[in-house]
Amino acid sequence: MTIFDRAQRHAKFMAGALVLAILFVLVVDRFFGHSAIAFGIAIVGLVFANRQMLGFDCANCGKNLFFRGIFVVPWPNRTCGKCGTELDKPPSN
Ligand SMILES: [Zn+2]
Repeated sequence: MTIFDRAQRHAKFMAGALVLAILFVLVVDRFFGHSAIAFGIAIVGLVFANRQMLGFDCANCGKNLFFRGIFVVPWPNRTCGKCGTELDKPPSN
């Protein structure tokens, strides 16, 4: 499994986690009224779930797959934006 595959799997996991977090906030809002605590829990949970994102780095130059310059996007680069390594192919060595 390539780094891109694992990063893509993480991206899908995070999309699911985001939906769950939104549902959680909406459900709490619906049954208990507006709650900054529920919102806080959802944010902390997402940050916690997303911490492994920092582990998806280009094997060649170490650039993170989720960073585009100074921006962070929710979908990984298929080709490294810094050195051009094709991250969806097994390393050739
Ligand atoms: Zn690279």
